[in-house]
Amino acid sequence: MSPIIKGHSQAAGVTKPVAAERRRAIKNHASNAMNEARYIFGPVPSRRLGRSLGIDLVPPKTCMYDCIYCQLGRTTNKTVERKEWVPLEEVIGELKAKLATRPDYITLSGSGEPTLYSRIAELIDRIHSITDIPVAVLSNGSLLWKKEVRDEIAEADVVIPSLDAGGALMFEAVNRPHKSISFAQMLEGLVGFRQEYTGQYWLEVVLLGGYTALASEVNKLAACAKKIAPDRVQLNTVTRPPAEKYAVYVERNRLHEFANCFDPPAEVIADFRSENHYAACQTGCEDIMRMLVRRPCTVVDIASGLEMHLNEVVKYLEELMALKKIEHCRVQDKTFYRAT
Ligand code: SF4
Repeated sequence: MSPIIKGHSQAAGVTKPVAAERRRAIKNHASNAMNEARYIFGPVPSRRLGRSLGIDLVPPKTCMYDCIYCQLGRTTNKTVERKEWVPLEEVIGELKAKLATRPDYITLSGSGEPTLYSRIAELIDRIHSITDIPVAVLSNGSLLWKKEVRDEIAEADVVIPSLDAGGALMFEAVNRPHKSISFAQMLEGLVGFRQEYTGQYWLEVVLLGGYTALASEVNKLAACAKKIAPDRVQLNTVTRPPAEKYAVYVERNRLHEFANCFDPPAEVIADFRSENHYAACQTGCEDIMRMLVRRPCTVVDIASGLEMHLNEVVKYLEELMALKKIEHCRVQDKTFYRAT
C-alpha cells in the first residue's frame, strides 16, 4: 500500500465539510504556487550543488535532445532555436524575491536546455550584479561548438555539461538529438570550451543498463572524457521516472567499478539525502507543487529538500492526490510523485 492510501485511512476522523474546506484551501494554494513561481523553483536538494535555486529558461519541454532517460518525459519541442523563451525582467524580478532563501547555487536548468535562451549571458551578468551566490549552468553541451554560446556562459561559476555516449550510434540511441547536431561536433564543443573556460567544469555521464553500462562503451566514454579534460567526471544513472521505461538504472556497485575506467577515476554522485544538513526552508503545499511541476520526487526527496517532516509531506500529498494535482508512479522500488 502506498503511503498516500495509508494516509487516507488515517484521516478518517475528519468530517466531510471540514475535509472539503481543507481541500478547497489547498487547491487555491496549489494554484497560486503554479501562478506565482513561473521561472524560479526551490531551493531543491541537488546531489552536486547543495541547496540549488533553479531558474527555468525554456518552456517544458524544449530541448535539442530527447534523452531516453530524461526525468521530464519526452521532448515536445525538439529545437535548436535560440531566443528569449521567457522574459528576462520577470525572471530577475522573481529571482530577487527568492534570494533571501540563501541557496548554495543559482542553477540555470529546468524544463529543457538552458543554452537555448538567447539572453543567458545578460542573465548571468545580472545575477552576479545582485548577489554573490555562485551561478551554475546544467547543459547538455550540444551547442558549445558555437563560439557565441561558449562566450555567453563563460562567466558562470560552474558549467556542468553531459556526455552519455562515446560514439555516434550510441549518441543517436540514448540522446535522440535534433537532426542538425552530430556527435563529432558536440564532442568538439565540449573539448573547445575547456580550452577557454576558467571556471569549474564538471562532466556528467549518465550510464544506462543495456546501453552504455558495458565495459566497451565505458572505455569509449573514458577516452572522450580524457580529451575533454574537465575538472571532474561524475557518473550518474536513472533515479527518477525516465521518458522511456527501457532506460534502466545501473547498480551503485557497478557504477563504482566503471568509475575506475576513467583517468583520473570518476566520482559516483553520492546520495544527497545522507548528506543533508541544510537549514530549514519555507515549506508547505506551494513549495511541494513548485518541486513537483519541475520534476518527480519521492516523499523523502520532498522532506529532505523542504526540511519538512515526512508525515507532514504525506499529509499534503494526500490532499494534492485527492485534488488530482499530482499522481504517483513506481521506478525500481521507489514511489515518485509528479504534477499532473
Ligand atoms: S535529459 Fe536534459 S538534455 Fe536530455 S532531453 Fe532531458 S532536458 Fe534535454
